[in-house]
Amino acid sequence: MFRQMRRNRQQLPTEECIDILKNSTSGVLSVIGDDGYPYGVPLSYVYDSGRLYFHCAKAGHKLDAIKKCPKVSFCVVSNDDVIPEKYTTAFRSVIVFGKARILESNDEIYRSIYALAEKYNPKGSGEEHKAEIEKFYDALCMIEVEIEHMTGKEGLELAKMREKYKP
Ligand SMILES: Cc1cc2nc3c(=O)[nH]c(=O)nc-3n(C[C@H](O)[C@H](O)[C@H](O)COP(=O)(O)OP(=O)(O)OC[C@H]3O[C@@H](n4cnc5c(N)ncnc54)[C@H](O)[C@@H]3O)c2cc1C
Repeated sequence: MFRQMRRNRQQLPTEECIDILKNSTSGVLSVIGDDGYPYGVPLSYVYDSGRLYFHCAKAGHKLDAIKKCPKVSFCVVSNDDVIPEKYTTAFRSVIVFGKARILESNDEIYRSIYALAEKYNPKGSGEEHKAEIEKFYDALCMIEVEIEHMTGKEGLELAKMREKYKP
């Protein structure tokens, strides 16, 4: 049921999509919000083995939306370099579709928040991560999105360069 990309010359291989997800630091999570209005909310995240993890407060618009309908989409833009003379941008982006799940077991919550801590403070020690997690643990909620469909796309200028320098 997920759509194919029309301009598949610009489609990125799966490994590159995963690299973008691993190396970017935020994206926009889209949910079906109040009264059927889409709600796109920027969030930090971590990618791990085909899943995305987010932390948030225990209440709010996105959480209410996920409780009503777990189907979500997440978009990350890793490059957006304007090429003025061509009236375009050299972009790379990834869009993921999947179902969100609010984590309930302490083990899953701890593992995923620890992964976030490592991603966002890679030089931090295990002790520092643990101390920070303990401070916020009771107030946080962890969301997992299992990736069902993922596509990556790059701007035409980047696609042309890739074709030119293809080994
Ligand atoms: C780069 C980046 C990374 C972030 N990372 C995280 C994260 O990891 N975890 C986290 O919980 N939050 C993060 N935030 C904040 C996040 O975007 C939301 O503000 C927050 O999660 C609250 O969402 P909510 O749906 O519970 O808000 P609610 O307060 O329930 O939303 C109510 C209304 O407030 C408005 N609103 C909410 N958030 C925003 C916003 N960011 N910008 C403009 N209007 C808004 C919307 O109209 C929304 O309908 C991040 C923001 C940015 C820009």
